[in-house]
Amino acid sequence: MKELTAPIAEIFCSLQGEGLYCGQKQVFLRFAGCNLACVYCDEPAARDAAASPMTPAEAARAIIKLARAKKARAVSLTGGEPLLHWRFIKAAAPALKKAGLALHLETNGVLYRELSKTASAADVIAMDIKLPSSTGGRAFWAEHGKFLAAAPGKTFIKTVVTSRTKLSEFKKAVDLAVAVRRGIPFFIQPATAGRGKARPPSAGFMEGARRYAALKLSAVKVLPQQHPLWGVK
Ligand code: SF4
Repeated sequence: MKELTAPIAEIFCSLQGEGLYCGQKQVFLRFAGCNLACVYCDEPAARDAAASPMTPAEAARAIIKLARAKKARAVSLTGGEPLLHWRFIKAAAPALKKAGLALHLETNGVLYRELSKTASAADVIAMDIKLPSSTGGRAFWAEHGKFLAAAPGKTFIKTVVTSRTKLSEFKKAVDLAVAVRRGIPFFIQPATAGRGKARPPSAGFMEGARRYAALKLSAVKVLPQQHPLWGVK
């Protein structure tokens, strides 16, 4: 039988620069390969699946060694799209948990079938809602809805907005979140200038978006990517 491996772009330690755990020291495992092509993607290299193959045991050993050296308590599985490698995640998770690491999954929120097979292994699910204006017009409302239903208690949402985002699609993302629960953490992330091909939205758009989200949800924050400001990965 063929050995289980996944293409790993990099393993490194840094500060989390987005979302609910912003500022927390984490080890990051970046899978290569993605099922989407977002306009604001700042990891185009990670969309290319040509990277070093590792087994789950090899990856877990490297993560644990780095976490101990850097005193990190959590590992973020990111990409690319980590759920393309859900079997690998399931296989690596027991060793990571035994080492005391919280397992965070950073995902584009589309692969709901794969999530349902892996959700029990994750402690935190950082899920994007992808707006059609950022994905070449493709809409994933049904997939996002099913994804949110798979592990609502562990999930927080991030949606990236750009100069091309329409308020109508942003409102649809908020309405999806409301259908889960009013208190689900919801981060509005303006696209970062100079990363990817997208430009940030206007101040007027941001205010309209924030106001709508805050009317419907109780845990809304505007949070731009912090790691470029801190000068870290
Ligand atoms: S889902 Fe993430 S890695 Fe994939 S294209 Fe979009 S931003 Fe890039």
